[in-house]
Amino acid sequence: MVEWGAHGNTIRVISEYADDLAKKIGSENIYNFSIGNPSVDPPKEVNETIQRLITTLPPVKLHSYTPAPGLPEVREKMAAFVSESYGKHYDADDIFMTAGACGALAVVIHAINCPGDEVITFTPYFSEYRVFAESAGATLIEVPSRPEDLQPDMDALRKSVNEKTSSIVINSPNNPSGVVIKEEYVKAIAELLKEKSSEYGHPIYIIADEPYRDLIYDGIEVPFFPNYYPDTIYCYSFSKSMSIPGERVGLLAIAKDCTNRETVMHAIAGATRAFGYLNVSGLFQLVVTACLGKTSDNTQYIVNRDFIYNSLTELGYTCIRPDGAFYLFLKLPDGREDFCRRAMELGVMLVPGKDFSYPGFARLAYCVPLERLQGSIHVFKQLADEYGVSPKDNNL
Ligand code: PLP
Repeated sequence: MVEWGAHGNTIRVISEYADDLAKKIGSENIYNFSIGNPSVDPPKEVNETIQRLITTLPPVKLHSYTPAPGLPEVREKMAAFVSESYGKHYDADDIFMTAGACGALAVVIHAINCPGDEVITFTPYFSEYRVFAESAGATLIEVPSRPEDLQPDMDALRKSVNEKTSSIVINSPNNPSGVVIKEEYVKAIAELLKEKSSEYGHPIYIIADEPYRDLIYDGIEVPFFPNYYPDTIYCYSFSKSMSIPGERVGLLAIAKDCTNRETVMHAIAGATRAFGYLNVSGLFQLVVTACLGKTSDNTQYIVNRDFIYNSLTELGYTCIRPDGAFYLFLKLPDGREDFCRRAMELGVMLVPGKDFSYPGFARLAYCVPLERLQGSIHVFKQLADEYGVSPKDNNL
């Protein structure tokens, strides 16, 4: 625990460093692309609903405790919304409101793991998975994605699944790469896990971590894992889709055909107690429910994605083209790990790929005003000169 607290999350450390530096040398000289804080306003209905609720509901009711899994009318509407959106049936009691996707992941991972169990995830991945798994006494097993397109490496996955595997955490669209897992891989993962669950005589759950599901580009479809594999625990968050990450609202959903569903739900309720998460803010449960189906205007992220992807590839950098989320994964020239530090000296804050267990890359969060991306290009030009990057180098 001391280790996790003392060293903090690298992304936050870099972002705070950038804020301090901005105070010294001026924010116009800092290009902080380290943190995934949405830069687009929430849909207008969010603030309108807050105002309506605070003027119409008695304050004592508005601010009271709610049942741990959420207000009954909220769970009812969430179940109907998820069922209608993805074509799989959920009832109100299949929904548990959580403190964002992190809250969902933390309680699920604690709920379904015993010390000695193994939780698999594909690299690159959101580093908090390790904290959730290890604090539950489980081991996080990293399985590489295919280097050419960051789709799952199925041979590597097959070699990693064993009788100790409790679950696999899958994040699509992915942080840090923006890659959406293609349907053929979703089907292949489902097949493999069905085979292995029956071989070992216990379910191997998929934990689908999908806070970026609504941030997708070019008409790409994000397959809904529960439709392919019933033993899926679906984790969603309103942090990114409604630009309200600080409010801590998300949900998890477990349909009736999930193995040992009732026991898992009880364990989840137990884990929320153990963490002291009494309930998600009642006000914000009502707000997101009233705004279901509304998202922030994501067109700005598409403009940003096109600008930064095109600008960097034209300079000769190799980047994975993001299908969704708001991150660009950039290959470091000759895999040189000093690139991020040098970029930082020049005012550009990136997160090294090794923080996502994927050295040789860096993550650029483009959820910033477009002018900041435009302003940073001269730095990327200077870095291209210093690191010998030229337009002929781009080979993805
Ligand atoms: N999962 C992934 C892959 C993320 O990138 C994040 C946040 O950046 C989260 C989960 C947690 O998001 P929240 O708890 O705000 O919903």
